Amino acid sequence: MSQLNSQSLTVAILEQQDELISTITQQRGVLPRVDVERLMQQYQCTFLQLLEALLPIAATFAKPPISEFYVGAIAVGEQINGFGALYFGANLEFNHQALSLVVHAEQAALNTAWLNGEKTISVLAITDAPCGYCRQFINELNQSSDITILLGGELIAFTEFLPRSFGPTDLGNHESFLNSRVARLCVVDTEFKVPQLVSHAEQSYVPYTKNYASCMIVCQDGSKYYGRYAENAAYSPSLSPLQSAISQLILSGQSFDSETIKAVYLAQMKGAENQTGVAKAVLDSFDFNVPLYFVALETAQKNDVNQVA
Ligand SMILES: [Zn+2]
Repeated sequence: MSQLNSQSLTVAILEQQDELISTITQQRGVLPRVDVERLMQQYQCTFLQLLEALLPIAATFAKPPISEFYVGAIAVGEQINGFGALYFGANLEFNHQALSLVVHAEQAALNTAWLNGEKTISVLAITDAPCGYCRQFINELNQSSDITILLGGELIAFTEFLPRSFGPTDLGNHESFLNSRVARLCVVDTEFKVPQLVSHAEQSYVPYTKNYASCMIVCQDGSKYYGRYAENAAYSPSLSPLQSAISQLILSGQSFDSETIKAVYLAQMKGAENQTGVAKAVLDSFDFNVPLYFVALETAQKNDVNQVA
């Protein structure tokens, strides 16, 4: 195929929408490098042209019942799947709850990258200018000063969006989102054995409260979706583990409804719990009752048997 201009490329990509969404949902919000290379070959386009043309696909995952404003974001990873693996995100709003509970598209894309083990993001492509809240969320990444934002076809240094920033080091925190220390935890009730829930809590980013927390959504078909707690130096832009897990569920093509959802598990540190209220509020925004189970975690001693490698 001969080279297309950017508008024609966007149209051509949208014609493949169903196939692309199927690939992305099967990978839980990820478009692997092999598919990225195939599309670049097919359309004879550059990586950045493709990235921009894929943004409308990212926005199709948005669930904005309040604003009806569809935002899509794609984070470009580097380490795990090689340069070019794309992590999708879209905004997610909850009816009848405080607007502060919303998940922003940029948060969702970075969450997808995080859950897939990425340590470095090179480019973050967004359909619309990042709001102040998202600029602060991005600033929690250790290499935020190296990140480039792709917006309206233009590459812009992230530092232009947030000069004179307040960040983790201002609070004496030298860890960072995507690069935090992994904890060693175990469940208090040793009868409860879900190693993935413990593992995700261990990898949560909680430098400010130390409430290592994770979430597991169990679907009626037996599939499970996990989320982790990501804190922020400005506190408010933190992402709760339930929001993290719901974002993954939506990016996997599932719906948060009574036909799909069986139960939700919330794991957090005994004595440091701070996620109970937000989890109940988010679940209350849905028009059916979701069983919510709590799992207490504690720091593992050396010989705890319910640790995962
Ligand atoms: Zn935002």
